[in-house]
Amino acid sequence: MLAKIQAIRGMNDILPEQTPKWQYLEDTVRRVLQSYGYSEIRMPIVEQTELFKRSIGEVTDIVEKEMYTFEDRNGDSLTLRPEGTACCVRAAEQHGLLFNQTQKLWYCGPMFRHERPQKGRYRQFNQIGVESFGMKGPDIDAEMIIMTARLWKALGLIDNVTLQINSLGTSEARAEYKTALVAYLSDHLEALDEDSKKRLDSNPLRILDSKNEETQRVLDNAPDFADYLDLESKEHFDTLLGLLDANGVSYEVNSRLVRGLDYYSKTVFEWVTSDLGAQGTVCAGGRYDGLVEQLGGKSTPGVGFAMGVERLILMLESLDKIPTDVNNAADIFIVAVGEGTQIEAFKLAEILRNEFLSLRVVTHCGGGSFKSQMKKADKSGAPVALIIGENEVKNRTVVVKPLRDIATAEGSPEANRQQVETPVADLLDIIESYLA
Ligand code: ATP
Ligand code: MG
Repeated sequence: MLAKIQAIRGMNDILPEQTPKWQYLEDTVRRVLQSYGYSEIRMPIVEQTELFKRSIGEVTDIVEKEMYTFEDRNGDSLTLRPEGTACCVRAAEQHGLLFNQTQKLWYCGPMFRHERPQKGRYRQFNQIGVESFGMKGPDIDAEMIIMTARLWKALGLIDNVTLQINSLGTSEARAEYKTALVAYLSDHLEALDEDSKKRLDSNPLRILDSKNEETQRVLDNAPDFADYLDLESKEHFDTLLGLLDANGVSYEVNSRLVRGLDYYSKTVFEWVTSDLGAQGTVCAGGRYDGLVEQLGGKSTPGVGFAMGVERLILMLESLDKIPTDVNNAADIFIVAVGEGTQIEAFKLAEILRNEFLSLRVVTHCGGGSFKSQMKKADKSGAPVALIIGENEVKNRTVVVKPLRDIATAEGSPEANRQQVETPVADLLDIIESYLA
């Protein structure tokens, strides 16, 4: 026998049992984003490699070791997008969105990073990203964060996430801080973990979020970024925090929060949870005032964030926050047994679909005995089966059989499993009473 072909490690099939949860999350997010005036944009999954090198930064984990980069048949270097901000800036710039007031955008889709797969960390994962352009004041930073807080409330997650926030200042402030940090860390070289030693030359700020305990202990006495913040950034940050206070969004200022991409300036933030083990960041972002220009556009401020869809789903599951009606259950299952019944079943199903657009009507296909069809009806999750036999066809009736103990239209929870034969003409009213 031929060997079976499996999915690539770290790239998941989202099975039918899971997809209703994804749809629920996506619908909720869409509703919240729309209520703040954001519009959806859809970008290609593949871009020129140069786009990510120039934006994310050459000496970042993503560009150095995580990108899926390949040559296409023309010899061009292409990359499966590892994140969406660079793509969104590229698209907005290319189509002139930045100057025609289409400045609040969101997108949703798969990203690719060659990381070590584990719970909450995959090689193909999904992000919902949000970007805004052209606004340099802290009001938009605040609005975005307030919007995420609203989303956590809508999803029932607000009590399980905390907001970490920091300002990275201007590139000049960062450069000054870097010098001080490198000077300090060079005196404690022997105590640093291997990765941090390497980063001392290439990307010293990244050492701040090393997970190594001994390195963190060294950092306890390191120069504090807050002391290096330039005045303008400090004012921006203070106003932002004031807006969050005024809107009841609590936060922790964390002056070691740096983020793994080079393009951030001023505000950076992460929503973290302790419910997912090491992969605790469910949403992260910040301000990137230099990025548009860095990608060849006219200097335009930007703020954005992205959330990890898989991590949010894991969180919703582990906290049991998925509403019970989020599933694939049918609403009506039609059973047809005997000569000429299948045609009637199809006709009936079409009538129901005409009348109730969102109803899940499943017509049994594939024949089989009454008993086996009823088994399938039960398994479908439908609260009610419609049964059509030869007698019913003759009488122009249908048997309505409740499959669950459900509240009647009057609201009494009495168990009513009696089946009734009704004229087809009366059926719509009866179905309506089941849906009430
Ligand atoms: P982490 O610190 O967990 O590696 P990151 O800083 O690399 O995250 P970002 O690039 O800011 O993450 O991406 C935004 C969000 O996307 C993250 O907060 C996380 O929820 C999600 N995410 C990032 N990488 C992965 C991955 N490999 N698998 C699943 N989700 C991911
Ligand atoms: Mg990462």
